[in-house]
Amino acid sequence: MSPSVLSPTPSPIAFPDVALPESARGLRHEVRAFLEEERALGTVLGRPDSWLAGWDPGFSRRLAERGWVGMALPVEYGGAGRGFLDRYVVIEELLAAGAPVSAHWVSDRQAGPSILRHGTEEQRRFFLPGIAAGQCFFSIGMSEKGSGSDLASVATRAERTADGWRLTGTKMWTGGAHVNDYAIVLARTDDTDDKHAGLSQFLVDLRAPGVRIEPIRLMSGEHRFNACHFEGVDVPDGMVLGRRGDGWQQVTGELAFERSGPERYLSTFPLLVSLLRELERGSATAAQLTEVGILTARLHSVRRLSLAVAASLDAGASPDIQAALVKDLGTRLEGTLVDTVRGILPTPADPHATPGSHPELLAFALLHSPGYTLRGGTNEILRGIITRGLEQH
Ligand SMILES: Cc1cc2nc3c(=O)[nH]c(=O)nc-3n(C[C@H](O)[C@H](O)[C@H](O)COP(=O)(O)OP(=O)(O)OC[C@H]3O[C@@H](n4cnc5c(N)ncnc54)[C@H](O)[C@@H]3O)c2cc1C
Repeated sequence: MSPSVLSPTPSPIAFPDVALPESARGLRHEVRAFLEEERALGTVLGRPDSWLAGWDPGFSRRLAERGWVGMALPVEYGGAGRGFLDRYVVIEELLAAGAPVSAHWVSDRQAGPSILRHGTEEQRRFFLPGIAAGQCFFSIGMSEKGSGSDLASVATRAERTADGWRLTGTKMWTGGAHVNDYAIVLARTDDTDDKHAGLSQFLVDLRAPGVRIEPIRLMSGEHRFNACHFEGVDVPDGMVLGRRGDGWQQVTGELAFERSGPERYLSTFPLLVSLLRELERGSATAAQLTEVGILTARLHSVRRLSLAVAASLDAGASPDIQAALVKDLGTRLEGTLVDTVRGILPTPADPHATPGSHPELLAFALLHSPGYTLRGGTNEILRGIITRGLEQH
């Protein structure tokens, strides 16, 4: 037997089996009880894609009062100091219920952990308590026209001024920029032969002079996204995130967080809940129930993979390839779920039907469906990452 067989290198696509901590069970019940209270208030509508389209700052604040925003941030910065697995339980319950979590989604998932990791002490003290209180909301300012998959080619520039930087360029698809407080903006600060070098990240006040926000509407007509123009925006030195020139490493270092969470397979789950309610009204056939069973089994499998990534992140690892796999499988399943639900129950989708009714939820899920496999990196790009990872192995 060769030594490599005796002591194989760990596979880049290993997914250890994860048991949720004992604390998770009680936490899940608490979240469900909270959701019941919110349902009674009429704030939880059971809509698909609620992490992107359910903007309700009041809900975010009430969630934060329970310690469920910025949960993994240290207590000294206003967080709850809990692990990623506890956070996982909370967010999967919220997404499965279609709760309106989009106001704080990016600050909780990305901006908070990023500022904690790369930010100065001053930045941590300035931003993190507001994030954990559900009162400081962030957008992601990465993509540009022509720089989506090829993100390192961004043309937005930050030029040095006497006491900071002047930002010029246009970011595309900036979710929530019209309602949020800040954006983390990736910009070129230095010209180098290596396009991955010379990029830096900035914490930009979206109300600053020179920021112009123009809506990009979804097919449904909703205003969720924007072209965000930075027309000579002055950004103080204290708002550079991390080290000048480290932007690329910072951005790629965050991708496992962005790509592996339950929002990558639960966006359309509320539609399955709605289908089950419809089936309960009549008598479901064996064929219909079989289809539901197959969907449920697939959801369960992706959930286990996603949980394994959460556990690796909790342990301080960088499971980028596993995260890419989860996102590829999960986002395709989100689309399959919509198609399967239509196949099981051929109700016509109707965006003008009673809000919360099955035809209306179906229309909502369908009109959002082109985005599932694009946002956060397209599936073709993810497969490139997976292939390279396997080749290196
Ligand atoms: C709903 C939604 C929300 C978004 N939210 C945000 C946000 O908040 N902030 C933000 O910064 N960005 C956001 N984005 C942008 C998103 O990250 C980009 O759309 C995505 O990375 C793809 O970039 P692109 O649109 O420029 O497409 P392109 O990069 O032009 O790709 C077009 C097509 O070509 C394929 N392709 C490109 N390169 C390759 C390659 N090397 N090999 C094989 N195929 C390739 C792609 O897979 C895709 O199918 C959002 C996008 C959507 C749809």
